[in-house]
Amino acid sequence: MKIKSLILALLAPICLVCQENSAVAEKVTDHIYRIEVKGSVNVVAVIESDGVLLYDTGYKGSGEAIENAVKGFISLPIKAVYNTHYHGDHTGSNDYFISRGVKVYAVGKTLERLGDGQKGELWTLGEGMTEYAESHSGSDVVVYMADEKVAIVGDMLFEERFPYIDTAAGGDITVYLETQGEIISSLPADVKIIGGHGRVYSLEEYEALNSLLWETYDKVKELVMADESLDAIKAADPLAGYEKLQWHLVNKDKWVEIIYSSLR
Ligand SMILES: [Zn+2]
Repeated sequence: MKIKSLILALLAPICLVCQENSAVAEKVTDHIYRIEVKGSVNVVAVIESDGVLLYDTGYKGSGEAIENAVKGFISLPIKAVYNTHYHGDHTGSNDYFISRGVKVYAVGKTLERLGDGQKGELWTLGEGMTEYAESHSGSDVVVYMADEKVAIVGDMLFEERFPYIDTAAGGDITVYLETQGEIISSLPADVKIIGGHGRVYSLEEYEALNSLLWETYDKVKELVMADESLDAIKAADPLAGYEKLQWHLVNKDKWVEIIYSSLR
């Protein structure tokens, strides 16, 4: 290990906490980097011959940090940005790139939900790109790059936790888990999968996570089918033992609510 990377490796865990707008790049293939913003959300950089494409823009105020992270591995301009879905942790720095003359693209349903200053232009999906409705946010784009064997799946993958489901915007947990299955069966065994939050997954790991989530789903479903009320289901604690999947936005009770509302 080079001295510089050793120092960076030692500093990284500290700076994820201390730097307001940290953006840390990790090489996935020769042409693709995962940039983790504020230790929480992923931006994916794809290097082409004449510039860099970004998928998502992290939080508001993270644009410069993302741009600097890109400069750390390639000296090419950022030529276009694409949004996987509308959530603010994925589109927050759209305004930064728009103000610098970079084209920012999103599909229609995402564009509709973006605020002023964050709205880019209409993204016409090309080969290997699929829009999924009613799963996570009402509109989520998944991109598979066959040349690189890399899939960018946005929030169709949260590392090892209960996924956040935006039911108000049309998200639905049953469709979400089915869509994960659809994505999994469309990908080759040696694919690298970059989700919206967390490390790069193998197909096997993505499958295991999907099975684990179905397992929790079935435990709640059993009680819903037995006509138990939402309160009674929560009290019965069907997800005891799955505490490791909890995080600040989705704890066990919230997960029960998400499944319950999808089945009722
Ligand atoms: Zn999201």
